This record gives sequence, C-alpha cells and structure tokens, in this order.
Amino acid sequence: MLWKDVCEIFDKIENTTKRLEKRDYFIKLIDLVKEKGKPEDLKKICYMAIGRVYPEYDERELGIGEKLLINAITSMGIKKEELLEKIKETGDIGFAVEQLKSKTKQLSLLLSPLTVDDVYETLKRVGEIEGEGSQKKKLRLISSLFMRASPIECRYLARLILEDMRLGMNVPTILDALSVYFNVPKEKLEKIYAITNDIGLLAEKLIKNELESEDLKLKLFRPIKPMLAQLAPSIEEALLEMGKAQFETKYDGARVQIHKGGDKVKIYSRRLEDVTNALPEIVDAIKKINVEELIVEGECVAIDKQTGKPRPFQDILRRFRRKYDIGKMMKEINLRVYLFDILYKNGTSLIDEEFEKRRKELEDIVGYENDWRTERERIERELKSDKIVDISYKLVSDDPKEAREFYNWSLSIGHEGVMIKNLKAPYTPGSRVRTMYKFKPTLESLDVVITKAKRGMGKRKDWYGSFEICVKDEEGNLYPIGYVGTGLSEADLEMLKEEIDKIIKRDLGEEVEVEPKIVIEVAYEEIQKSDKYPCGYALRFPRVVRFRFDKGKDDINTVKDVERIYEIQRGRK
Ligand code: AMP
Repeated sequence: MLWKDVCEIFDKIENTTKRLEKRDYFIKLIDLVKEKGKPEDLKKICYMAIGRVYPEYDERELGIGEKLLINAITSMGIKKEELLEKIKETGDIGFAVEQLKSKTKQLSLLLSPLTVDDVYETLKRVGEIEGEGSQKKKLRLISSLFMRASPIECRYLARLILEDMRLGMNVPTILDALSVYFNVPKEKLEKIYAITNDIGLLAEKLIKNELESEDLKLKLFRPIKPMLAQLAPSIEEALLEMGKAQFETKYDGARVQIHKGGDKVKIYSRRLEDVTNALPEIVDAIKKINVEELIVEGECVAIDKQTGKPRPFQDILRRFRRKYDIGKMMKEINLRVYLFDILYKNGTSLIDEEFEKRRKELEDIVGYENDWRTERERIERELKSDKIVDISYKLVSDDPKEAREFYNWSLSIGHEGVMIKNLKAPYTPGSRVRTMYKFKPTLESLDVVITKAKRGMGKRKDWYGSFEICVKDEEGNLYPIGYVGTGLSEADLEMLKEEIDKIIKRDLGEEVEVEPKIVIEVAYEEIQKSDKYPCGYALRFPRVVRFRFDKGKDDINTVKDVERIYEIQRGRK
C-alpha cells in the first residue's frame, strides 16, 4: 500500500476542522486498506495518524531530534539556511520541506515509491538503533526515506519523525470511524480500547474479524486505563442511590497500577507511565506476595513515620520523578501503598466481577480486612509502622451517621476524604462511573486579582492562555499564588484579551504584566506549601469560577485566608 495514497487522505483530514469530516476521511482510509492493503497496514496507519510508531501504552518514543531531521533533509540537496528560513515562514518543518522539495529535481520519480511498510518499519528500526555510530545509521535510514518521498510525502514524513502529525486526529475520532465502518457499538470499542490502549491493534483485529481475540483482553504488563470516580454531592445522597456501600479512606497520593508476573513487577502511574524504577521498596514488597500473577491498584502516599500522617503531595511527586540517587530519596521519603482494587489474578481477569468479590480477593491476599469497625485500634497503632503494602481502610454500611463518623476519622488521621463504592459494580476501565464516588470537604473559593497574562499557544494562540493570580497581605501588597488557565470559555478569553490589552504595564515577551484590576473567583483542589512563591503557598489545579467585576484589588482574599484554609484542609486542625 502506497504512502502517497495515505498522505493524500491525511491532507484532507488536516484541512477540515470538522470532526465528522475527519471521521469520514478516516473511513476512506479503511476502504483504501481493504482495497489495496493488508490488515497490518491499518494498524500502522492508526498509529501514524496520531503521530506515533509505537502503541499508546508503550512509552517508547522515536527520539529523533529536530537536528537529525534537518540533517536528513539537507542531505537531499536542500540548503540548511533555506530550510530554516522556510520553517520560520511556515511555522512547520513539514510544510517547509514539502515546499522546498517541490523545487528540487524530482529524483524520487526514478526511485521505487514508498509504501506504508517502508515508512513504518524504517522508522521503527531507527527507534531501536542504539550504541556507537547510531546517529549516522539513523541519518542514513531517514535520508533514504526522504530521497524517495514526493513533496506531500515529505510533509508527513517530517512530522511523523517528530511525532506531531498536526492532523487534529485523535483516538475518539478513530474509534468513531471504526464503529461506523465495522458496525460495532462505540461503547464496546471504547471498553476494549480502555483495556488495550492500543488503537492500532484494535483496528487490525476488527479488519481481521477477530474482535474476540485473546490479545484484546486484559494482559499482564500492558497497563489499562483506570476507572474514575465522580464527586458525590453528599454522603447521604450517595447512600440513597446505592443503599449499602463500601466507604474507604480517600488517600491523597498517586494512583498506581501494579503488575506482577512471578518475580517481575512493573508499576504504572495513573497516566500509565512506567514508574517502576523510582519505587524499589514497593517492587520488593510486592514480590513477596505469594501469588504468581496479579494486577492490583492502589494509592501511593508518603508517610511521616514520626506522626503517622501523610506528607504533602509534592513529596510523592519528588519520589515518582526521581531518576537517580533513588536510594537516598527512599530514606528521606517513606512510601506506603494502600491497595484498593484487584483486576487480575493467575490468568483470570476479575474486572467483570462484583466489587465485593474483588475486595475479598484483595483481603485474602494481604490476610486481613482493615475493617474500621472491628480493626480500628490496630489500624491506628500501625499508622507509624514500617508497612509498605497495606489495603485501604473500609467501612461497609448503610447508615449515614456511621459513614460520617468514618469520614471524620479519615480526615482526623490526615487523609483527604472518603470513597463511596457500589458493592455490586464491575470495574469499568477508563470511565468515570456512578458506582464509585469521592467525597471530600469543599474548600471555599478565593477572590484573586490578575497580575500577569501569558501569551497563548496552539488553540489559544490569538489570546492569552493563562493568568498569574494574586492574594494580598494586610497592607495590600500582592502575592502570586499560581497561574490559572482553566474554566474559561472562548468568549471569556476574547474578553480578557481586550481588557488585558488596555491595562498592560510591561511586555515581558512570553507574558505581559498588567495593572491589578481584574478580579476573579477561583476554585482549586488544594492549597500546597510552595518554595516558588514568596507567600509560601500555591493553589493546586485552580480554575476560574466567575469574574468579579463587582470587586477591586482591595476586596480580594489575603495570605492569612490562604493560611487558614491550608490548616483546615485534610483535617490538619
Ligand atoms: P480524583 O483524583 O479527585 O478524581 O479522585 C479519585 C482518585 O482518588 C483515584 O483516582 C485514586 O487515585 C484516589 N484514591 C485515593 N484513595 C482511594 C481509594 N480508597 N479508592 C479508590 N481511589 C482512591
């Protein structure tokens, strides 16, 4: 199957902003594969359409820098200065090489045309080259592709190499196309996708009529998208909906998905990144579990062994992001993982089992229940222990009063709130479900004033994209506590552009400093301690709730308010 034919449809996809049209062009690609290609081509085209060579669950990147790409392009006889000039002019290396290639002698016409296989397999090989002389080898392979490519093929080749296709194509749109073409409900495909995280594999199996294939089922060492919770309006309402529920302490840490196969253990983050190397003590502890094959999920928290309380969220990030000196960091920041679900055991997927049954499996594995009603004393005694793997504290109840007590207790030992889980629910990967709720204290919103605006990028390139926000001290001095960019509609951004431009004090390049005139109300997940800001605090995940044109900079919240809320949150007081 020819790369040129694919590129021509890619061009059509790129040139429409309408999702439905993108979907329909993708359907044309499937037609094309049916007509002229083999099933594997569809797999490759799926990856390429989203700017990848490897499946989405696979973290490997091609890792070809712009420099190597430029060298490959200039090896076709295109001058470097000209290329750089064109990149500046078009803002895209793809367009630049396309335009310049069309001016060179079309040697490519004499060479054999590129196939989808040529492009895909060559790039995959390039990604795997390591060691001495690897740059040269990579350059040679990439150059050979460019030599054979026509102008439009060059455009997509260059972009694919940088893993940014600019088609505006994404997995949901491909799923739509597959659903229409193969006449399979989108929900079914979404569910399989959440398990496999591999759009190419799914498409290939569809075209081969092998949707029931074992390859599309839960598999060790291929992380699956986690099931997500919704926010419960109250404990009472959640109970009304579920009748009886399992309440669990909600830990504020990092979610981990742990896969164990014999002696091999891998840990994946919520975003499915492999974080195994950063967490050796957890790997060791999991290895000791006497079950051959497992996939479990839990929340990883940093524990202060003096107090037995969790340490701030940033400490966990410091552990997760650590690439070297891990041993030293391990001594400084002690981790504990509270397991809360099990998805797979010894060759059998458990995701369709009721939660109650999954929990029982988990309890059997660790050897106790962590039931708050009966084991509270032991739990409290062990808060300061060396335990690395534990299971979440639970209360199964239909009584809102008792649930409230459990909730207050969870806060009192330093945690974030409670999870409320339906005992009969299966595990639905990748979706935000009404069978699992989170409930935590709502923190009051803050009125803050905008002091800087960052120029936007991508979709927001015509506007400002995010805004520095400040609180004040008693004297009215302003203190930044973060940047906010979410919670704003296009109309808001348009309006902000107009208003901000009127009050610019200084242009700092990437951003502008403005008169403190625009007051907004922001909500946020949490207040964190911060070294970055002089007031010592920063908002985590702030979002704009509304504009407060009725307020001026003298009416905004103070550093003292921030301090007070910081103390209240997570039951620190
Ligand atoms: P949120 O991140 O605010 O959507 O809240 C849901 C998250 O809480 C999950 O993704 C987990 O990372 C985390 N979590 C903490 N404790 C538990 C628990 N006991 N059960 C399930 N999730 C938990």
